[in-house]
Amino acid sequence: MSFEQLGLSTDLLRAISDQGYTKPTPIQEQAIPVILEGNDVMGGAQTGTGKTASFILPMLRRLETHANSSMSPAKHPIRALILVPTRELAMQVYVSVKTYGKYLTLRSTVIYGGVSIDAQIDTVRSGIEILVATPGRLLDHLQQKTLILSKVEILVLDEADRMLDMGFLPDIKQIIQLLPEQRQNLMFSATFSEEIKKLASKILRKPVLIEVAKQNSVSELITHVVYPVEPLKKKELLIYLIKQQELQQVLVFARTKQGADRLAQQLDRQGISSAAIHGDRNQLQRTQALENFKQGLIRVLVATDVAARGLDIEELTHVINFELPNNPEDYVHRIGRTGRAGTKGFAISLVGREENQLLIGIEKLLKTKVNIEEIKGFESINLQPHVLEKEKPIDAKKLKRNVASAHSKKMNLFVKQDEAVMRFNKEVTHKNTRRLEKTEDPLFTQPYVPKFSDVMLIKQDEMSKKSVHKRLSQSNRPLPALFIPPVISKQK
Ligand code: AMP
Repeated sequence: MSFEQLGLSTDLLRAISDQGYTKPTPIQEQAIPVILEGNDVMGGAQTGTGKTASFILPMLRRLETHANSSMSPAKHPIRALILVPTRELAMQVYVSVKTYGKYLTLRSTVIYGGVSIDAQIDTVRSGIEILVATPGRLLDHLQQKTLILSKVEILVLDEADRMLDMGFLPDIKQIIQLLPEQRQNLMFSATFSEEIKKLASKILRKPVLIEVAKQNSVSELITHVVYPVEPLKKKELLIYLIKQQELQQVLVFARTKQGADRLAQQLDRQGISSAAIHGDRNQLQRTQALENFKQGLIRVLVATDVAARGLDIEELTHVINFELPNNPEDYVHRIGRTGRAGTKGFAISLVGREENQLLIGIEKLLKTKVNIEEIKGFESINLQPHVLEKEKPIDAKKLKRNVASAHSKKMNLFVKQDEAVMRFNKEVTHKNTRRLEKTEDPLFTQPYVPKFSDVMLIKQDEMSKKSVHKRLSQSNRPLPALFIPPVISKQK
């Protein structure tokens, strides 16, 4: 299917073509027609699937009729409200609104906390049709009566699961009370907890369920490697990896804000330019760090889970988990920063003894075993359940050839997993493989949204009248999240 067949206007098609997209991703293919028909949608999609465009494009199409160049604020009431959990995601969604709406005269802005409210007040007072906001700052505005939401026609809750995790439910409830009854509601979530189902059943009306992801599926394009290491040697190993592999752009995850700060400073002192990004940094610092990272001015961005949510960095090849996350699902989100839209990625984890259970949890969730390797000088016997396999002798010539070819391609030395060559360099001594215990836990063995459909596909008989529902129930099963067709080269 092409974008032309989805019912978008020429102005939107031009903007899409400017981006170099030639074909819609699975979620775009399914969500765009449904949203254009005015339905409420519950989208099960992770970041990296093209979900942002899947709601922004039809939203812009529906609002196009209101586009006008009047100077009067009254002619530009807020017609679409997009709520997101973090400032970074807010910026990213706003940039998408601007990008796809570049040929339309619709006005938009973004508001989030951590920056002065005054400039935001001026912009919203001048009138805007599309507002991207984090819940807390939106409430600040509503309390100061700097904006009204009585004309909102479309409400989007993006990354709803994360908003609930972050405790935004009371804020969201308050905001929703200020919206008109008659409106279209679009909700996107990577996971479907009981809370999400409850929220969905309160907000959405006869929603169409669109599922493009198997929960916690990750791109096949990502290579996962675990390096067992004594906790005290983690920093040293990280520095070694970055220097040895000549990594120029790495996103490193730390568990705490203080840990992220400390690590960024330590890397910096070792000549690896780094910055930290987390909730205690003010907005200017966060934006600056992200911008510097994107432009290659710094090599390492050390992030906490919340701060990294929504980061979209083109062609990011390496994500390193300095510490594993407590929640296995966060591993999926973390590594979702790489291997995006068809590009290859490497997810490296430095795992200490006390993190073994976390690693087991991640493997259960991914339903795959993660390759374990050791590097001379950093060996550790701390991952007990791992079955060490006897290493084949290293073929020195083959290794040399791989090193040379990797360097010439400016790639790192990650080669096919089955080959008897090492991923790293001569100093790698072991290539260990751990067998994953078979899990019977239904949480990990059951499909993505089986129970959810009971709640969401309300009044199926009514829906079946609609052609759109027919389209959704066709045998053409959606692809898992992050399984996007190869990336399309963007026109400059
Ligand atoms: P998202 O899931 O919205 O975070 O999008 C992930 C990435 O995919 C972003 O960098 C988008 O620019 C890119 N993208 C979105 N739609 C398409 C498409 N149809 N073709 C290629 N890339 C896309």
